[in-house]
Amino acid sequence: MLKGIAASSGIVIGKAYKLESPIIDIKNEIKTSIEDEKDRFQKALEKTVNDINKVKERAKANLSEKELAIFDAHLMMANDPEFASQIENMISEGNSADHAAKSVADMMISMFESMDDAYFKERAADIKDVSYRILCNILGLAIPDLTAIDEEVIIVAQDLTPSDTAQLNKKYTLGFCTEIGGRTSHSAIMARSLEIPAIVGIKSLMETVKSNDIIIMDALEGDVIINPDAETIKKYEAKRDNYLEEKKTLETLIHEKTITIDGIQVELAGNIGGPKDVVGVINNGGEGVGLLRSEFLYMNSENDFPSEEEQFEAYKEVLEGMNGKKVVVRTLDIGGDKKLNYFTFPEEMNPFLGYRAIRFCLDRKDVFRTQLRALIRASVYGKLCIMFPMIATVNEFLDAKKVFEEEKEKLISEGVKVADKIEVGMMVEIPAAAILADEFAKYADFFSIGTNDLIQYSMAADRMSEKVSYLYQPLNPSILRLVKMTIDGAHSNGKWVGMCGEMAGDINAVPILLGLGLDEFSMSATSILKTRKIIRGLSKKEMEELANRAISCNSEEEVLSLVKQTLNQ
Ligand code: PEP
Ligand code: MG
Repeated sequence: MLKGIAASSGIVIGKAYKLESPIIDIKNEIKTSIEDEKDRFQKALEKTVNDINKVKERAKANLSEKELAIFDAHLMMANDPEFASQIENMISEGNSADHAAKSVADMMISMFESMDDAYFKERAADIKDVSYRILCNILGLAIPDLTAIDEEVIIVAQDLTPSDTAQLNKKYTLGFCTEIGGRTSHSAIMARSLEIPAIVGIKSLMETVKSNDIIIMDALEGDVIINPDAETIKKYEAKRDNYLEEKKTLETLIHEKTITIDGIQVELAGNIGGPKDVVGVINNGGEGVGLLRSEFLYMNSENDFPSEEEQFEAYKEVLEGMNGKKVVVRTLDIGGDKKLNYFTFPEEMNPFLGYRAIRFCLDRKDVFRTQLRALIRASVYGKLCIMFPMIATVNEFLDAKKVFEEEKEKLISEGVKVADKIEVGMMVEIPAAAILADEFAKYADFFSIGTNDLIQYSMAADRMSEKVSYLYQPLNPSILRLVKMTIDGAHSNGKWVGMCGEMAGDINAVPILLGLGLDEFSMSATSILKTRKIIRGLSKKEMEELANRAISCNSEEEVLSLVKQTLNQ
């Protein structure tokens, strides 16, 4: 059995699909004859054209015309007679098909890369992509392709990038297991919003699991069992049925309020990545959207930053889908582990501490203004709140807010209708902001505490690294004190506070957060009903006492046993 971090709950049993790039081993050996080598190349080229056409066909469901253009560029390259004849000439001189294809491609890649023009530089990436396909086809190597999966499988990978995760087809993906990652890495977060079971940070996964192995994924415990016997399968099927049964019972709480036994009501909202996740929030009894990670709109766009119109449509769809309930949209939080196909971030030693989120937006005001205009225009379709990510200083917040005000004024003077009130708040995810919360609260309409980053920065522990994942300690008193400072700073200025980091749905943290006075808990949709059940069994007054004692502890273990003792667990 292998062990990892349970990142998105569920129990599934299925066949492994290993997502692994084949190793290309080039040998300059003519197997039989020059004619056969030419034939090998021609067949590989034909298959490549067919493969690209198939990928393009499948992508049509998800991509716009503009985004599909990338495949046309690839087809043009594969059909280029000059490219093919250079390779054939090399084969005629006695080189193998793979060696010839690699040499010609490498030469063209370095030629394009050395050009000054950005357009031609980008073509180098196309040649890399196409020639990789051709080489795999010459060598008879299968290229794993998430979009081509057409049967139920469990994806097994070293790592899944957020854009890999976005490509997963829910119909066929029973779950996924990865070697890299922690509970708050973005592929884990996306798995929860897609409601796909996931286990991450599994040591030795890739060397242990083979394609087509049968796997049991117990994503409640983080256990992976490979090729189990019939008895084990039976045991886990029973556990799975139990889990699904419990899930069903929770559904009776969908339309209930989130109210404590002493009558204090809080709000439970969902975290989403785009319009298609709204249904999950509604079906799980969410009372609003506490975090729309708008960067997923940018990551799903293939060739350029999404236009004002594309964004407007997406925000409008979310606001309308939530039918007047509050929707908090976070402005672009790109950088760190979230990359874009069409924009190259500068190389940095510590991208999580670098040019990202609001730092990027205040530098690239053109990109920022486009997003703000789309948001302000969409504001008439529901109850919109906007917040800025990664705010470290009061001036950053004021600068960002100024850009918002300017765009709002511009739109009004253009005669565009905008909502009377759009709340403008900020994420508290950098310790500096938590410590100075009472000052920030003079200007921000609300806070949303981003504990995924707040914990990473407070503990100086990379949230992507499974090696230091023991330092992800939401219940550490140092974190609880930062949360308390944030809530107290807001409340003393009459502002409300939400939390949209994973801690908001952590069953051991919820009682303390309630006691500290958190107003809104925003989490993966699948955690909402479980959290509602817990809160409905608690007394706010007793939880205030618990919170007071918790912040005086000196370790996470001590806080955890205090919680368990208080709740008689
Ligand atoms: C956070 O940091 O807690 C957060 C909600 O934002 P993200 O996970 O997208 O960084
Ligand atoms: Mg964050």
